[in-house]
Amino acid sequence: MTSLPHFPYHRDPESSGSIRSSDAACECCGKAPGLLYDGVVYAEESVQNLCPWCIADGSAADKFDAEFFDAYFCDDDQNEVKMPPEAYREVFSRTIGFPTFNPIGWWVHCNQPAEYVTRNEPYEMVFECRVCHQRHAIDDLD
Ligand SMILES: [Zn+2]
Ligand SMILES: [Zn+2]
Repeated sequence: MTSLPHFPYHRDPESSGSIRSSDAACECCGKAPGLLYDGVVYAEESVQNLCPWCIADGSAADKFDAEFFDAYFCDDDQNEVKMPPEAYREVFSRTIGFPTFNPIGWWVHCNQPAEYVTRNEPYEMVFECRVCHQRHAIDDLD
């Protein structure tokens, strides 16, 4: 069993339900690594099968102009904050998605996008600051 690539902004894609077993080929790299992304791909064309490695290294984002979230960056009060373009790319196009109601606020702390840790059902997305390690829950209401 190959281990998954590291996603700096999504701690545990397996427990988030973002990974499925499949023998199908990834539409980006053409390989069939046995594990594929299980989630929504926001792209012009319909993309069914992507492997986690092509998401992590940005090749799926480049090839399909894909994003994996319908999200915006927000502060403690869930007000939108603007971030540099690299932050949008790193988080929304190179991070494997997880199931949410949409759109979601992605917590920013210490001027950095936080890491998504887990979900407390039914409505809390738990983030942890990558700088000061404070945790914060963002509501994801349907
Ligand atoms: Zn791939
Ligand atoms: Zn912080």
